[in-house]
Amino acid sequence: MNRVSKLALGIALSLGLAACSNETTTPVVQQIEKVSGVEKVNFDSSVRHQDDFYYSVNGHWLANTPIPADKSNYGAFSVLYERSQNALKKIIDETAAKPNKAEGSSEQKVGDFYASYMNTDIIEKLGFSPLSDQLGDIAQAKDHQDIASLMGSLLVSGVQIPFGFYVNNDAKNSTQYAVYLHQSGLTLPDRDYYLKDDDKFVANRAALNTYVADIMTQAGSKNSERVADSVAKIETFIAQSQWSRVESRDANNSYNKMDRAELQAKVTNFDFVQFSASADIDKVTEVIVRQPSYFEKFGAKFTQFSVAQWQDYLAFHLVDSYAELLSKNFVDLHFDFHSKTLMGIEEQKPRWKMAVDASDQVIGELVGKEYVKQYFKPEAKQRMEGLIQALIKGFEVSIDEIEWMTPETKVAAQEKLAKFTYKIGYPEKWKDYTDLKITADHLVGNYQAYAKFEYKTMLDKLGKPIDRTEWHMTPQTVNAYYNPVMNEIVFPAAILQPPFFNMGADDAVNFGGIGAVIGHEISHGFDDQGAKYDGDGNLRDWWTDADRAEFQKRGAQLSAQYAGYEALPGKHVNGDLTLGENIGDLGGLTVAARAYHLSLNGKPSPVIDGLTGEQRLFIGWSQVWRRNYRDEELGRRLMTDSHSPSHFRAMGTPRNIPAFYQAFDVKEGDKMFLAPEDRVKIW
Ligand SMILES: [Zn+2]
Repeated sequence: MNRVSKLALGIALSLGLAACSNETTTPVVQQIEKVSGVEKVNFDSSVRHQDDFYYSVNGHWLANTPIPADKSNYGAFSVLYERSQNALKKIIDETAAKPNKAEGSSEQKVGDFYASYMNTDIIEKLGFSPLSDQLGDIAQAKDHQDIASLMGSLLVSGVQIPFGFYVNNDAKNSTQYAVYLHQSGLTLPDRDYYLKDDDKFVANRAALNTYVADIMTQAGSKNSERVADSVAKIETFIAQSQWSRVESRDANNSYNKMDRAELQAKVTNFDFVQFSASADIDKVTEVIVRQPSYFEKFGAKFTQFSVAQWQDYLAFHLVDSYAELLSKNFVDLHFDFHSKTLMGIEEQKPRWKMAVDASDQVIGELVGKEYVKQYFKPEAKQRMEGLIQALIKGFEVSIDEIEWMTPETKVAAQEKLAKFTYKIGYPEKWKDYTDLKITADHLVGNYQAYAKFEYKTMLDKLGKPIDRTEWHMTPQTVNAYYNPVMNEIVFPAAILQPPFFNMGADDAVNFGGIGAVIGHEISHGFDDQGAKYDGDGNLRDWWTDADRAEFQKRGAQLSAQYAGYEALPGKHVNGDLTLGENIGDLGGLTVAARAYHLSLNGKPSPVIDGLTGEQRLFIGWSQVWRRNYRDEELGRRLMTDSHSPSHFRAMGTPRNIPAFYQAFDVKEGDKMFLAPEDRVKIW
């Protein structure tokens, strides 16, 4: 799963992690009589809406939809994800079948990349030889200078090292790009896997040791036990030195700009000059360090690990990063550890799915352009624009009416709201892949070329004006995001399908689905971290002290509320880790309900399928969250995912909203009931 990392990752906040298969397609057609869009067939009639709004709406589906063997979880996102996957497969097959493709053309790249992934005869023959040169370079390191230099060149190839960087708008000068340096370097999903002594983590650490030894033996190591020991020692140190995910969320604490001299002083024994030369960043004069104390500890300890230990660590990370692209023995070992042990997945995906996912990663906008042509309807964009306007209007009214905020802060909040921009469907300017060379017979070579291409594209941004047309998700992605340094909300084409967005349905279910998603993304601009940025994308405090204190108090209440939810026996939601997303959900659904109400212009909502518009809206919200998880995956997400598990997103949000109580006549004694003083209202 940590195949060659996507380098240009910003700090955009997404809606949810889409993962993973077949369901009847609901045709997106404009009908004369609008349907409700409520999928009553999924209801569990034995559960009352007033007792658990997730199971009442989704219970039948959850009980009757097994997780496919090649997936860690399965829900509404997954169904659309599979639809995108099938669409891309068709596009790739059609493209590959075209005769006489010009060398370097989009068609050649799409056809040949897929062919290189599917050409298992060549891949088997090559074994791990595509990595021989780099393994040889690592073996030749003589001193710590060489190790620093190797880290630079490996990072350019997309290999994980103890830290990474990306280029994004400078959060304190958002009209310029800056380099952000961040902690990295672990194989297990989170630092706590190394630091906690629960049986599960002890077992995961043992599994890591076995995995390292096994895969390095396959890669020709004569000392694979020693390699495993080196990896364990270095990664344990890294885990001890890292900031927690909660600490790393803090937008102010993780903004520490320094020039090269200051950075070198911080990383003491690590030769940043040597590293920069091989990483091709020797001309970068300033960096923003996200976790300074981590870099200090890393620098101090760097020379205390021997050259041999670092060689082991780097060789393993090279092999691990590329394992999925090598022969079957590597693919199998990688799957057994990363997917089976850590996520509970039973079977490997069919190879064609791996190849399609890889195409989405490497040449996503080349296939995306065709995806949009074939699957995206312009009328969807039009209706989305209307919904976005309605949500912004709803937010405007909400801010005006907030009882806890002073007029001064309200003015500043309205200013920020007025500066939101949005993108729908697909980029107006497509990414230029001219410099990416793809061949049909060398998968690892293609990935190396891709990693270098992405890396160069990223560095080329420095010193240039901000590219406001850039997208951080492909159009075929089932997700959405808010980018705080651009103050923009972005909705790829693939999320504009039922149950999120139903062209054939009445507005109510759409306000509860995609409307609340729009509201969620806008609310990220006003969540515990997003609210630290102004409308121009700069970290600038626009709050009065009293308002900030009240905002934080309400956030703490919401955090405590979610921390009360037990997702697995003895394992609760991390209220602080998920606070931004929970504020996003609460603000999003609250404002969606308000926007729907405003859209009625004082008329009562139409009743369809025996449900009022207000009821359909909330059901629309709950039905997008149906999802079954494997226990391993849910446990992993509780520690690493900033989103709450689906159950609590679906039921935890509405129980804070008065309109939900009215819509379903929720009363004291009902399990969804919260006493008015325990309900959290933020936006
Ligand atoms: Zn979000």
